[in-house]
Parts: sequence; structure tokens; C-alpha cells
Amino acid sequence: VGRNYAEHARELGNPVPDEPLLFMKPATALADLASPILLPRGLGAVHHEVELALLIGRELRAADRESAAAAISGVGIALDLTLRDLQDVLKRKGHPWERAKAFDDSCPLSPFIPVERFAGMEGIGLSLSVNGQLRQQGSSAEMVVGIADLVSHMSSCFTLLPGDVVLTGTPAGVGPLNHGDHLEFNLDDRLVLSTRVA
Ligand code: ZN
Repeated sequence: VGRNYAEHARELGNPVPDEPLLFMKPATALADLASPILLPRGLGAVHHEVELALLIGRELRAADRESAAAAISGVGIALDLTLRDLQDVLKRKGHPWERAKAFDDSCPLSPFIPVERFAGMEGIGLSLSVNGQLRQQGSSAEMVVGIADLVSHMSSCFTLLPGDVVLTGTPAGVGPLNHGDHLEFNLDDRLVLSTRVA
């Protein structure tokens, strides 16, 4: 989901969309968040976007918000790696973003924490530090479209299947990654992971 935190939309000079801005990553984008992160070479800046990731546990088709919320089986951390310079070119041309967002290994993903371990979906915190400095911090409470409404809306656009993963948008603070950077992720103190850029 693009631009689901107002402050992040502003930092890139984008308007907040009036309905969720959706794009997809293929299965070949998946990588292990705990393994060294591979960056594409020669294609300009690669930005980190830390995001709450939702694991879908059952099929959803035009689901209402209650059914959508009940179908989420786990919560994890994802990086929506983005070729920012290329995305800027694509945006200007009015072209789809996939070339900037869907490359191999563009979606490092953590294991999922069972949803039962969270008190609810509305106040889940997430942060990313790079080389010991806090870069991104957010909470699902700050989303423009909250988790239940988001998954419900998505299921009205296309059927979601068990095993699908939904990335819910990134808080402010995105920026470029460089070789050797050390990254530390914290999902609501329930999952803490660190890795580095290869
Ligand atoms: Zn993103």
C-alpha cells in the first residue's frame, strides 16, 4: 500500500490518496529479513521502507471489515525496498511502479507473530534504526486507512488467498541504504531483528 501514513506522503511531496494506492510484488521479491540485504546495482538510490506485514489466513473476497480482520493470522515486519530514482521517473511518466518495487529480493520479510499475541490491530508499533540511529517509527494507529478497512478494501479489488502478505505502508523517515549499513527492527517489542546490507 502506498502513502498510508500522511507524514510519509508529505516527505516525498505526494498527496494523500482518497482511497488506498495498491501495487503488488511477485513471490520472487521475497527474501529473509534476517539475511544480508542484497541491493540492485547501477540503478540509483535504494530506499528502505519499513512496514507492518499482515499474513492472510483464509480466502477473502469482497469481505466486510469484521471478516477481513478475522482473516489476519499473523503480523510481521517487511522492508518494501524501492528504487527511488527509477520510481520518480516512472511517476513522471504515469507508468506503473513495479520496476522500482518488484525486483528480486525487494521484499525482505520476517517470521510472523501470531495475531493472538497482540491486544488488537489498532496500536501496533514498528521501528527501524540504521547504524544505531532511529530512522522510522510508526504505529498502525497512524495509518490513513486502518488495517481492517484496508484488507476489506483490497478484497473488493482482488481475492486474497491464504499465505498472501499485505504490506500496509511506511511511516516517515525513508532514505537510502548503503553497503555495510546495520539495520535493527522492532515490532512492538514482540519481535526484534537485526541484519546488514551486503
Ligand atoms: Zn512502501
